[in-house]
Amino acid sequence: MGFRALLTDRDAGGKVTSTVAEIDEASLPAGNVTVDIDWAGLNYKDGLCLTGGGGLVRNYPHVAGIDFAGTVRHSADDRYAEGQEVVLTGWRVGEVQWGGYAERARVNADWLVPLPQGLSTRDAMVVGTAGLTAMLSINRLEAAGISPESGVVLVTGAAGGVGSIATALLARLGYSVAALSGRPQHGEALKALGAASIVDRNEFLAQPDKVLESARWAAAIDSVGGKVLGKLLKQINYGGAVASLGNAGGIELNTNVLPFILRGVTLIGIDSVMQPYATRIAAWQRIAETFDIAAYGKLVREIGLEELPAAGEQILAGEINGRVLVRPH
Ligand code: NDP
Repeated sequence: MGFRALLTDRDAGGKVTSTVAEIDEASLPAGNVTVDIDWAGLNYKDGLCLTGGGGLVRNYPHVAGIDFAGTVRHSADDRYAEGQEVVLTGWRVGEVQWGGYAERARVNADWLVPLPQGLSTRDAMVVGTAGLTAMLSINRLEAAGISPESGVVLVTGAAGGVGSIATALLARLGYSVAALSGRPQHGEALKALGAASIVDRNEFLAQPDKVLESARWAAAIDSVGGKVLGKLLKQINYGGAVASLGNAGGIELNTNVLPFILRGVTLIGIDSVMQPYATRIAAWQRIAETFDIAAYGKLVREIGLEELPAAGEQILAGEINGRVLVRPH
């Protein structure tokens, strides 16, 4: 029997467009677990995959969607049984492999994790790749010696998916959070998530650039990169650490070595895509114990497959706040 999917295709002129189509199970890629998808997420990378950006998708037609949660329909792998609820993030699913913008997906069992206890499949996609990445960032900062006693943690791109969940998680864990955003209209929502203060991105960037600036932050979680990361590194306290996870503001990094050699600052790279199973499970467990999903509810919007192409453009334009959930049915 056929099922609905958002098929992304490229025409002879290179234009990439997506349309909802009925496809059959035989078209699904090889894999040992088939999942009926309840919810998928919308991430910055999904915006790229839906518009042909970044060269992430090489083969068309394609089904995008880098994360999803659902129920196992068929499994040829001992670790998963029919009816079991599962979550998938990363492993280049939705880029190289067909992903979550469909009612059904076929994947490799190695890429799945069991739905964490205490979360529904919808909750898992409220969290999604964004929340997992936020948690992985916090875990790495703590491994580098950061704790709530260290001082204020700056979160950049705070109104976005990773930034807003990082703000909420840090606040729940007892950290004082400064939320940097280019959209002051979301300041109140960020305060409701637990941000102690809001930093205006334009004002932050407008301050005169020095080789080393007044130390203000114990640590930072940065989804922006570019000028924002270059500047904040110069404002990190002695012994502080920065988790660099994104490039929503650019891939360049212009800085100098003084924060590292005079203040002992640590720059940590975060990748959620290829994380080993044990690290994922530990992060999901901590999220389930920490994240107040009900309190985050106002920042969640639900859409259908038909609305995805427009939402993909919006996320690339920095116009989405919080998390967008995709219901494929
Ligand atoms: P979102 O679009 O939801 O959030 C990005 C935020 O960055 C925006 O909300 C905006 O925040 C800010 N921003 C957008 N454009 C600019 C700009 N031109 N200059 C400065 N700030 C900007 O995306 P996600 O949260 O899904 O992803 C954030 C980043 O993290 C992306 O680069 C993504 O690729 C990366 N990522 C990396 C992962 C990893 O494993 N390393 C996993 C997940 C995401 P505001 O309006 O508040 O300023």
